[in-house]
Amino acid sequence: MLDKLQELKTRLAEISDLGSAAALLGWDQETYMPPGGAKARSEQLATLRRLAHELFVSDEIGRLLEDLSGPAADLDPDSDDARLIRVTARDYAKACKLPPKLVAELARTTSAAVPVWAKARQESDFALFAPHLEQIVGLLIQKAEALGYQDRLYDALLDEYEPDMTAVQVEAVFTELKAEIVPLLRAITANLDAVDDAVLHRDFDEGKQWELGIEVLKLIGFDFEHGRQDKSTHPFTTAFSPTDVRLTTRIDRTFLAQGLFGTLHEGGHALYDQGISLALDRTPLCEGASLGIHESQSRMWENLVGRSRAFWRFFFPRLRAAFPDQLADADAETLYRAVNKVRPSLIRVEADEVTYNLHIMLRFELENDILEGRVGIAEVPAAWNAKMETYLGLVPPDDAQGALQDIHWAWGLMGYFPTYSLGNLISAQFFDQARADLPDLEAQIEAGEFAPLLSWLREHIHRHGRKFTPAELVERVTGRPLDAAPFVRYVKNKYGELYGLS
Ligand code: ZN
Repeated sequence: MLDKLQELKTRLAEISDLGSAAALLGWDQETYMPPGGAKARSEQLATLRRLAHELFVSDEIGRLLEDLSGPAADLDPDSDDARLIRVTARDYAKACKLPPKLVAELARTTSAAVPVWAKARQESDFALFAPHLEQIVGLLIQKAEALGYQDRLYDALLDEYEPDMTAVQVEAVFTELKAEIVPLLRAITANLDAVDDAVLHRDFDEGKQWELGIEVLKLIGFDFEHGRQDKSTHPFTTAFSPTDVRLTTRIDRTFLAQGLFGTLHEGGHALYDQGISLALDRTPLCEGASLGIHESQSRMWENLVGRSRAFWRFFFPRLRAAFPDQLADADAETLYRAVNKVRPSLIRVEADEVTYNLHIMLRFELENDILEGRVGIAEVPAAWNAKMETYLGLVPPDDAQGALQDIHWAWGLMGYFPTYSLGNLISAQFFDQARADLPDLEAQIEAGEFAPLLSWLREHIHRHGRKFTPAELVERVTGRPLDAAPFVRYVKNKYGELYGLS
C-alpha cells in the first residue's frame, strides 16, 4: 500500500505544480502583464490547465485510487493519508463525469460572453447579453445533469464551491436570516442619518494608504517572507504554496475604506492560505475547505475584527499619525461609526454588513428560478428589480446597476454566490467560539495583539486545509452545525446600538 500511496502522491504533486504555475501566470496577468500579452497568456494558461486535467483523469490515477480504496479503510479516518485518498477519489469521480466536449464548450462560450457582458453593462443593454446567458444556462444545466444531483439542479453546481451543501440547506438558513434582517434594515432605514461617514471621504494620499496597508498586514500576522501584496483592479488572493501567498488591493484617494478593508479582507484569505499545514503542500488538500470557509476568514478579519470598536480604539492613533490633518477633528468613535455606516444600495460589492446578504439571497433565488425554468432569460431584469424592491426598497434605474452588475454569470459561475453569505454566517459562528475559548479576545484586539486569535484560527481551521468538508469543519470547531443565529445576534446587537434601535 505504501508504494501505491507514494506513487499517488508523486503524481498529485506534479499536477499541483502545474496548477500553481497556472496560478502564477494568472496572478501576473492581473498585476504586471502588459496588455499586449493577453492572447499569448490565455494560450499558456489553457495548455497548463489541459495538461493538469489530463494527468488527473488518467487511468493510472484511477487504478491507484482503486487499489488504495481497500487498504485506506485501515487508516485512522482523520489522518492526512486517509483524507487525501478520500478527497482525491471524490475529485476524480467528479472530473471523470464531465465530458471533455462540454468542458471545452463552456470555456469557449464563457470566454466569448465576457467581453459582450462588459459591453452590455457599459451600455446598460441586457438584450445584448441575453443570448449568451441563454447559452451558458443551457450548458450549466447539462453540466449539472452530468455531475448528478439528488433534489435540485442547483445542488450539482453549488457542490463545486461548497462540497456536500444543498440548495435546501441554503434555503433554510437564508429564510431564517431574511426574517431577521429585512425588519432590522427597515428600522435602520428610518434612522439612516444616525451614522455619518463623511470622515472617510476626505483626501488620503495613496502612498500613505499603501504603507498603512502593509503595516496592517504585518500587525495581523501576514508573513512577508512567504507572501507579498501588489495592486490590481479587482482585489484577490492566490497561493502557489503556503510558502508563497499573493494578495492584491486597490486604493481610492477619496475613500479611505476601500484600501483598508480590502487589505483586511484579502489579508484574511491570505492568512488562511499561509496557515495550511506544509504536510499537505502539493496535494489536493492544500486549499481552503470551501469558498464559504475561505470567505469566513476574510470576513472575520474585515468585519468582526476590523469593524469592531476594540480595533478602532487600538488603530485610530496609528491612522491619525498617518493623516493628522484629515483626522484632526475625529476620534476612535467617529471612525468606528463611519466604517459601520449602513446604506441600502444597488451594488453588491458596495454593500455593508446588514444589506450584503440580501443581495446574495436575491441572486440565489433568481439562479434557482432560471435553472428550473420559472424565469426566462428575457424576464431576468424585471425579476431582479422586483426582488431588489422587496428586500432593499430600491429599484435599479437601469440594468447596469441591476442584473448586469456582476461578472459571475458571464464566467459560467452559478451556484457560487451563496458562498459569500455562508462566509458571513460562518465567520460569526467561528468568532463566537473564538471568544468562548479566548476570554480576553476583545482586550487583546484593543491592545493590538492579534497573535492569539491567529493561533486559534491556525489550530482549529487553517492547518487542516481541505481535509474536512465545510459541514464537518463547522461542527468540529463549534460543536454545532451551520447556524444563522450567531450572525443575526451580532448584527442586531451592533447595529441596534449604532442606530439607537433598542
Ligand atoms: Zn473574499
